[in-house]
Amino acid sequence: LRVVFTPIHRRGIGITGTIAMLQDITEQEQLENARREFVANVSHELRTPLTTIKSYLEALDDGALEDRALSHRFVGVMRNESERMIRLVNDLLHLSRLDSRKGLVSKVPTNVLDMLEEVADRFSFQLDQKEISIQIEVAHDINEIMLDRDQIDQVLDNLVSNAIKYTPEGGAITIRASRTNKDWLEISVQDNGIGIPKKDLARIFDRFYRVDKARSRNMGGTGLGLSIAREIVKAHGGTISLDSELNQGTRVSFALPIPPLEGEAV
Ligand code: ADP
Repeated sequence: LRVVFTPIHRRGIGITGTIAMLQDITEQEQLENARREFVANVSHELRTPLTTIKSYLEALDDGALEDRALSHRFVGVMRNESERMIRLVNDLLHLSRLDSRKGLVSKVPTNVLDMLEEVADRFSFQLDQKEISIQIEVAHDINEIMLDRDQIDQVLDNLVSNAIKYTPEGGAITIRASRTNKDWLEISVQDNGIGIPKKDLARIFDRFYRVDKARSRNMGGTGLGLSIAREIVKAHGGTISLDSELNQGTRVSFALPIPPLEGEAV
């Protein structure tokens, strides 16, 4: 329900009253609003880097090109901005593929410890740069599990990349895998970084939702990482949740149902 207040105008007198109307927003309308908001977000996210690139091109055209050091710097900025647009378009394509192929996952037997160690390896450069330590803990009863390796790698990459982005130098990240019961695997990524204010938690998985847009942009974020992670986990029949304490840290965990391996007794 939505309440709309309309002022009553009387010619020559001004506002003499207000009419309050209760409007029922149908599901259709909500979908339409969400779609409109999404298109506005995408346009805005693309316009920002494009505007930057245009202004740097103009500066080059107006004479900066003659200055070797300056033009070198400008080209660097334009390159970063183009890379950000490419990341954004790739994330959007990824989301739209996930939207249209709902539930389509191709599971392969995967060793969980190997998978988590490989994630840590992919980020070793960034981890070293910020002197962030990473620890992996896999419960002894977890070996091979059926999952869509490419897609779960994407989830892990998004979560670990966030943990690094939003944790100051010298911090610590822990990735844990355990069984919550016989048929569920839970993987969590915990950091001791900046955390998220309570008021933002409810919308944190929404597309383009960011606690601090400027900070996220500076870190190269698109605001789509958590939404992509959620879509992939949903396609696996799983759930994802986030706990966070401001200035203490954040823990994102996802649970996947474990189908029996081929040939395994049920
Ligand atoms: P982004 O590309 O901006 O990182 P995400 O969808 O991955 O987008 O995350 C949405 C927002 O959630 C981020 O902008 C950030 O404000 C917040 N966030 C996500 N992960 C963390 C974390 N580990 N610590 C603190 N804040 C986080």
